[in-house]
Formats: sequence, structure tokens, C-alpha cells
Amino acid sequence: MLVLIPPHRSARFVQDSGLANSAGWIPVDRNTLATQHENVYAIGDVTAVSMPGRWKPDVPLMLPKAGVFAHSQALIVAERIAGEISGKRADAQFCGDGFCMLEAGEDLAGFAFGNFFAEPSPDVRLKKIGRSWHLGKVLFEKWWLAPYGIRRSLLESAITTGGKILGVPVKL
Ligand SMILES: Cc1cc2nc3c(=O)[nH]c(=O)nc-3n(C[C@H](O)[C@H](O)[C@H](O)COP(=O)(O)OP(=O)(O)OC[C@H]3O[C@@H](n4cnc5c(N)ncnc54)[C@H](O)[C@@H]3O)c2cc1C
Repeated sequence: MLVLIPPHRSARFVQDSGLANSAGWIPVDRNTLATQHENVYAIGDVTAVSMPGRWKPDVPLMLPKAGVFAHSQALIVAERIAGEISGKRADAQFCGDGFCMLEAGEDLAGFAFGNFFAEPSPDVRLKKIGRSWHLGKVLFEKWWLAPYGIRRSLLESAITTGGKILGVPVKL
């Protein structure tokens, strides 16, 4: 078995955009996702988001690159841009919440969740491995791929209700 991780870097056009730092990632305001250029936002893996908390006082932390963050950042930026265009207040903020099902095979998964912007250090918890987290992952994938409509809404309700029953905050 070969496990291969290709070099982790941003696309050339990002590096050449004038938005990126020397490492090739785009620094943004951690709450608004605004870049240093007016009316330009960046979301997802391409960003460099500094986290306020630390494990060691002299070691700054950056937000990990994950789809769950790209997704919630997209919602925030869409809301802010819509607000700016319509002239309404646009104060939606990315709060650093994230979650992840950790597949373990045999229909089992663990579940990690928490607030990555918590202080003095990120507040990330891990739920014991079980079948419900795997079921959550299956439903999440179906929801993600479902077109807008009744099926998507039902899947969303199932996931959020399941989250409440299991005592974990899941925002879609
Ligand atoms: C194996 C693996 C497992 C993962 N598992 C998880 C997980 O369980 N949970 C989780 O939250 N995250 C997970 N991630 C991370 C997640 O996939 C990424 O954080 C997420 O996809 C980032 O989304 P993005 O839109 O920022 O970037 P991307 O998904 O990388 O999208 C960037 C897009 O830009 C396109 N592009 C590049 N250059 C150009 C160009 N010049 N012109 C036009 N388009 C261009 C690319 O083709 C790509 O489609 C995983 C990643 C990997 C690799």
C-alpha cells in the first residue's frame, strides 16, 4: 500500500495574485474572511487564518484546512456580500466551529468537534467511536450531494435532529 501526500501549496494563480503571503496562502480576517484588498474575500484551503488560542505561548496556530471550514466560510461570505449589495447590515461572522466524522471501517466512526477560535486554546472534543457517527457521515454525504428540494431538507432535518439527540452542535 502506498500512502502519498503531494506537496501542500496553493495554485500558481493564487501565488501570483498579489493577495498571498510569502508562503503562498491568502491571509484573511478570521471572522469576516476579508483580505487586505477592499471587496475581496478568500475562503477555504487557500486562506491563512490565524487562530487566537495557543497550546504553547510562543507557537502561533493556524486554522487547519478542512472542507467543513470552507463550507461555513462560504455561507458567511455569501451573506456578507449579499448584505453589501442589498444595503442591509452584513455582520455574519465565521466563529471557528468545526466537526469531522472519523471513519474507522466496519460501519464505525468517531466524531471530533469544537471551536477552533476558543481561548486560551482550541476547544476540540472527541466522541467515542460508534455506529451513529458513521450513520451521520452517510447522511451528511447524501445531504451534501442532494440538489435543493424536499430530499435535501429532510436530510438536513435528520442530521440536525440526530446532532441534538447525540448532544453535538451541527450547523449545516
Ligand atoms: C484525502 C482528503 C480527505 C479529506 N477529508 C476531509 C474531511 O473528512 N473533512 C473535511 O472537512 N475536509 C476534508 N478534507 C479537506 C477538504 O477536502 C478541503 O479542505 C476542501 O476541499 C477545501 O475546499 P476549497 O474549495 O477551499 O478547495 P478545493 O476543494 O481544493 O477547490 C479548489 C478548486 O479550484 C480549482 N482550481 C485550481 N486552480 C484553478 C485555476 N487556475 N482555474 C480554475 N480553477 C482552479 C481546483 O481544481 C479545485 O476544484 C480532505 C482532503 C483530502 C485531500
